[in-house]
Amino acid sequence: MGVQWRALALCGGFPKLPWIAEPHRYSAAEESAMRTVCDACPVRPECAADADDHRIEGGFWSGAARTAVAGRLDPGGA
Ligand code: SF4
Repeated sequence: MGVQWRALALCGGFPKLPWIAEPHRYSAAEESAMRTVCDACPVRPECAADADDHRIEGGFWSGAARTAVAGRLDPGGA
């Protein structure tokens, strides 16, 4: 699918959610809202693979916050 998956990314329809903020800068309600959007997103696997491939170290991708240390800070809401 290449980079074309981004055209189907549901997060683009929710620009007021803090997709690129550090986790301590958003509320539990905002995190839950982002996770809900990701759960319904048709390109979640592509999003996760892209974040992994590019070693993304911030923001909220594919239902989880990511960090510089471990890549994913909070997989699945643990
Ligand atoms: S899975 Fe990725 S592309 Fe889809 S809404 Fe979540 S962050 Fe956006």
